[in-house]
Amino acid sequence: MKNIIFIAPPAAGKGTQSTLVSEKYQIPHISTGDILREVMKEDSEIGEYVLETVTSGGLVKDEIMYTLIEKRLGEDDCKNGYILDGFPRNVEQAKKYDDILSRLGQELGYVIYLDIDEKLLAKRITGRRVCRDCGAIYNINVESESPQIESTCDVCGGDLYQRNDDNLESFQNRYQIYLEKTGPLIDYYDKKHVLYRIDGNKEIDVIFQEIVAVLEAHR
Ligand code: AMP
Repeated sequence: MKNIIFIAPPAAGKGTQSTLVSEKYQIPHISTGDILREVMKEDSEIGEYVLETVTSGGLVKDEIMYTLIEKRLGEDDCKNGYILDGFPRNVEQAKKYDDILSRLGQELGYVIYLDIDEKLLAKRITGRRVCRDCGAIYNINVESESPQIESTCDVCGGDLYQRNDDNLESFQNRYQIYLEKTGPLIDYYDKKHVLYRIDGNKEIDVIFQEIVAVLEAHR
């Protein structure tokens, strides 16, 4: 399988779709948000910096991202393709990613862009809940994405929690940054003829089928 990058505004469902694609094609799902949420737990200067930046909805410094990404992509499980969820997030990072790919002898692959209405995002952001144990993602504001038992993971029975950046204030900041910094990536990858736009306003299963159709059609 070729490598896949997901581009989407916050809470559009890229984590959920990345997990589904990862299971179907047996390739790792690399979420920079998840990597940073681990770094945040460290009792160190960098841990504190990441916690502050992510909570406010800002972007973590590019240099830190390059180190984390190059280390992760150099691991053995990435040799047969991987899914990048959350990186690159601006054109600077995309250019650096091109360099990282050539150093690792990898190809760009597909860029999947989930296009979704802003109004729907605000609703999704306040309803998102994540399993503390297995990372499964739910949305209590969307009936088909709610857990069967309140605050409990359907998959493993773990506790569900709300990310500390999933509030409307942080969302406004993240969404503005998305439009300003991540938006130009759509053009950047379109010009390289690797961008596939998917309507992210539909149900999870329908979106997934559309992604699979794109991947299969361009293998
Ligand atoms: P996500 O889980 O993708 O929504 O990411 C959560 C937060 O992690 C973002 O709002 C940023 O603060 C930070 N983050 C994730 N990926 C990156 C990146 N590529 N560059 C800078 N900051 C990032």
